[in-house]
Amino acid sequence: MNEMKKNKCIKCDVSQCRHNLVTENYCSLDCISVGTHEADPTVPECTDCNSFVKRTGCCD
Ligand code: SF4
Repeated sequence: MNEMKKNKCIKCDVSQCRHNLVTENYCSLDCISVGTHEADPTVPECTDCNSFVKRTGCCD
């Protein structure tokens, strides 16, 4: 398994993402892509991390 490195510039607590360092609430990617699913975003909930990849467990 690849060792994940904390990117101090990207805090994230989405533990369901395979790029998340769950114990520290940081992303491990060098760079992420953020987008929106709204035509006219107004609040944080309108934005999405498009680099999200669902974490797969040992028994999925
Ligand atoms: S890819 Fe996005 S959702 Fe996943 S840990 Fe990084 S910032 Fe969080």
